[in-house]
Amino acid sequence: MERVNAIIKKMSHKEKASLLVGKDFWHTQELKRHQLPSIVVSDGPFGLRKVENQGLNALETSRPATAFPTTSALASSFDDDLIKEVGTALAKECLDQGVDILLGPGLNIKRHPLCGRNFEYFSEDPYLSGRLSTALVEAIQAQGVGACVKHFAVNNQETKRLFMNAIVDERALHEIYLRGFEMVIKQAKPWAVMCSYNQVNGLHASRNYFLLKEMLRNRYGFNGLVMSDWGAVVDLADSIKAGLNLEMPGGAYSPSKISKELSRAGIKENEINEAIKPLLKLMVDKRDRHVTTSHDIHYGDHHNLAVKVATEAAVLLKNDEKFLPLKVKKNIAVIGNFALHPRYQGSGSSRINPRLLEGLHQALTNHQIDFEYADGYGKNETEIDSNKIEEAVQVAKDKDVVILMVGLPDEYEMEGLDRSHLNLPDSHNRLIEEIAKVNENIVIVLSSGSPVLMPWLKDVKAVLHMHLAGQGSGEAIYQLVYGLVNPSGKLAETYPLKLEDVPSHKYFGNRVNIEYRESIYVGYRYYLKAEKPVLFPFGFGLSYTTFSYKDVELSHPSFDDNESITVKVTIKNSGKVAGAEVVQLYVGPRKTLSFQAPQNLRNFKKVFLNPGEEQSVEFTLTKDDFALFDVESQSYRVENGSYKLFIGSSSQDIRLTRMIKIDSEFELKDQSEDLPSYYHLGQGDFEVTFNEFNQLYGKKIKHFYAPTKRPFNSANTLNDTKGTAIGRFIIKKISGMIKDMAGGDPLTEQVMVTSFLDAPIRSYSAFSGGAISKRQIRGIVNILNLRLISGLFRLIPTPKQAKLLKSRDKAKKMGSVPKVE
Ligand code: BGC
Repeated sequence: MERVNAIIKKMSHKEKASLLVGKDFWHTQELKRHQLPSIVVSDGPFGLRKVENQGLNALETSRPATAFPTTSALASSFDDDLIKEVGTALAKECLDQGVDILLGPGLNIKRHPLCGRNFEYFSEDPYLSGRLSTALVEAIQAQGVGACVKHFAVNNQETKRLFMNAIVDERALHEIYLRGFEMVIKQAKPWAVMCSYNQVNGLHASRNYFLLKEMLRNRYGFNGLVMSDWGAVVDLADSIKAGLNLEMPGGAYSPSKISKELSRAGIKENEINEAIKPLLKLMVDKRDRHVTTSHDIHYGDHHNLAVKVATEAAVLLKNDEKFLPLKVKKNIAVIGNFALHPRYQGSGSSRINPRLLEGLHQALTNHQIDFEYADGYGKNETEIDSNKIEEAVQVAKDKDVVILMVGLPDEYEMEGLDRSHLNLPDSHNRLIEEIAKVNENIVIVLSSGSPVLMPWLKDVKAVLHMHLAGQGSGEAIYQLVYGLVNPSGKLAETYPLKLEDVPSHKYFGNRVNIEYRESIYVGYRYYLKAEKPVLFPFGFGLSYTTFSYKDVELSHPSFDDNESITVKVTIKNSGKVAGAEVVQLYVGPRKTLSFQAPQNLRNFKKVFLNPGEEQSVEFTLTKDDFALFDVESQSYRVENGSYKLFIGSSSQDIRLTRMIKIDSEFELKDQSEDLPSYYHLGQGDFEVTFNEFNQLYGKKIKHFYAPTKRPFNSANTLNDTKGTAIGRFIIKKISGMIKDMAGGDPLTEQVMVTSFLDAPIRSYSAFSGGAISKRQIRGIVNILNLRLISGLFRLIPTPKQAKLLKSRDKAKKMGSVPKVE
């Protein structure tokens, strides 16, 4: 820090202010006078998306990179070492492409299976999310590249993501939504954290003192860079006061404007000095390391790694009569357009331009498997195509095996949009139904980044879930179905039987204020407590072999004076082929006064065993593993009482248990009379009254409302103005403009239109990289309020803006970088 302080002493006010806002979409400002370079940031969590163009059309053009399986798949591997290999590879690609900080991993909790961005997140469980993020961040940073964990915090839906207000009680906030962040920040010390767009308990994350200062800095000891999500800042001065260091993207204001704005808001010099330190430190480190682009990279090896990860992450959901692995190499039908055009990644800022892409059709051809192919449905087609289905039925009819590729098409899973149901497209469901009428030997290969319903489950022999398996998905499927690799993935989230079973279902989606009434009962914590049946439980996954569990031993029967205890268990491969098992350890209360989930994942280990081989697995538990967040003392505490340890192969396949007693002075107040719904969960749909939730919340619930009538302000979205003629006119015009910018890609267009119309007007400036100025924002608001003349006057571009727009047009025309796919 000494070097940083010395530089600060030599910096002008304007130079300091310049560092608080990025230079453009992907760079921070440099300080030429001090020979300090800018920091280059780039998406995304599971593959590099180094964008060459700037601005809103950026989604189209990024440099080719390896598309690894998405985070939801990585999580299903339950394998820290494998994830470390991915981290190392990602960092090497960053070094090759001159990127200093990778904008990932994303570790938001999968509160609801419909969240459009779940494919980018690990799990419904905070321990799993925190532990695997830690592995990824440590590996990335070991190469001298920074990781930026995101989106801090409580960003669990895409609908109205820029301003929705997550209303969450303190226990759930700490135990579920912050815990994973706490783990990765304390253990892996990421270079950066990205705050989320949404509000948390009535305040935007970007200006939330509680989140950014009290939690991140004070409690978790974070001393890196806090950057905003792109366009998340509402008021820069407020954000600086709350602990933000960098508004992204840049381009919307000049350093002198920033400086004036901060002075006007009364931000003092020493506050600015504090705010710029983390970025300055990164700049000084970069200068002193003399970072140059490193080309020590073998993209071919990364492709092989992508294949390996896809095989380790795949989850075998069903395998009747040991149908898999396949024994036949001919007389096989391969049905489904995904075999030709694999669904291997999601849409939005994480979308990668893969260096290579290999589907199942190609992989089977490479391995000289004799198969006949039929489309079954067209590329991205969701409507039933009877001709294609009939053709597929004819192909499938007399075959020994039908490999049927189904899943969610691109537009079902993307940033900016939540799904509206859990079904596969009709075209896929009908295809399975019709083929099942003529052939019972069906292997379903599923490609989706989040749970789906499977009404056809009883009609098929096997289901292999590939998630979104990255650029090597074809080869991975081949290796799995032919048993070259034995499936060992486990579900990192629960697959419900129906949408209404999801505890947050009534409190999710198209509303501004979302009350997290289910509190800590997210995912398996709820299903176990409510004893509600599910399609597939958390932690579930079959293998071509079997494993037996025995000899569980505790180092001590209780904690007494011990800081920790060890739990030992022996696992044996009791089948005939080699394979890996994920041994899972859960803890849960037996006799306590709080309301709690019956089981909480606290450790796991993936072990590879040859047939007949056995291995002893050892876990360490500390008292913290039994703690709950006590709101009164604002700390984690362990309640006096008895607890149970559960060791098993999934959250519902528990093989061994042990009791453990913990003597503690902490006795929680029994709240079962005030909060009956949280103590006794019924089997019906989850419902809690506002009053009871309010009681749990403990203070007045503040709802946030944006006006939907005049006068509008810059916090309004264009969708809020739909009720006015002028609002509708502007929406039409802008949607047309976006269509042009999207360059003919309907997916990009859909994401952009939805994001734009649901974005507060103030954020246009940041989103457009300054092409729309703050003055013009005021102009738009004036026009919406029918102050037409002053509004129009403010819309006229300044000469500087006109120049900027012209240079962008030129860059766009040159189109020097390849298009995605
Ligand atoms: C996303 C972030 C992403 C950023 C830059 C935002 O819209 O929420 O995850 O890193 O854009 O692309």
